[in-house]
Amino acid sequence: MTEDTESLRPDDAFTLLADRTRIKIIRALGDASTPGVPETLPFSELRRRADISGSGRFNYHLKQLVGQFVEETDEGYRLSYPGVRVYQAMKAGTFTERVRIEPFELDATCHVCGAPQVAGYHDSMFRVRCRDEAGDCGAVFYKYFCPPSSLTERERAGVLRAANQRIQREIASMAKGVCPWCCGRIDARVLPTDAEMPQRDNPAIEHRVLHTCDTCDGSLYTRLGGLVVSHPAVVSFFHDHGVDVTRRHVWSLPFASSDERTTVTGSDPWRATVRVGCEGDVLRVRLDDEPSVVEACR
Ligand SMILES: [Zn+2]
Ligand SMILES: [Zn+2]
Repeated sequence: MTEDTESLRPDDAFTLLADRTRIKIIRALGDASTPGVPETLPFSELRRRADISGSGRFNYHLKQLVGQFVEETDEGYRLSYPGVRVYQAMKAGTFTERVRIEPFELDATCHVCGAPQVAGYHDSMFRVRCRDEAGDCGAVFYKYFCPPSSLTERERAGVLRAANQRIQREIASMAKGVCPWCCGRIDARVLPTDAEMPQRDNPAIEHRVLHTCDTCDGSLYTRLGGLVVSHPAVVSFFHDHGVDVTRRHVWSLPFASSDERTTVTGSDPWRATVRVGCEGDVLRVRLDDEPSVVEACR
């Protein structure tokens, strides 16, 4: 275990950013950089690009950032890793943008009632649900945080591709016990089917797993079946049918985005089976309460 030295408290780190001049400096350094290579700018060039009048003021604010968000070298100044992440969040509109995509119909159907699925985006959340008109069941399949800029200025197909990759990647990381946000250790717990869901508009999940991160306190509920999408047995099962399951929209996969294909088969020891289907063929994936895959058979 390595201890970090001279860590800033989060409130001090965020306070450092609470100034327009400092934000302009970070933006200028980020804009000057090429992907993967933080650009180093000399003092006067950085001041020119940040468009800051008053050398004293510029110098003062730059010095506040050095050591945390900016690194000073013999050649000048460049973004540190935290500085790059701040720049990325600014560019992605993570903290600032308000984007709304009105719900639109997908060419996938509700796994419960067969009505069309619809996708939409508001309050930084991407949602896929049953259409919810008269006679539809209104089930929610995914409600997932996506940064606003990832979904703007794209065709619908691009929005869906971006959201799908984000959901698949983050859940695959959780399935392996690694926090997708901070790389901390994830603790996963299978919840009893009658446990209360914390928020009314969350997906009503019967076979639910709560993932929590020791380090950043991030947490997420997933379906049991959602965790097996990235398992090698499932990936190769689809591959044998000529399908790359990691590119399939996860909300179109009934075993992953509904409880319909999951059955609890034993309580001591606890076991559940997820029936993964492709073109009439079935792969049965058995899980324990870790939850880990203990067996997969066709
Ligand atoms: Zn429905
Ligand atoms: Zn974390």
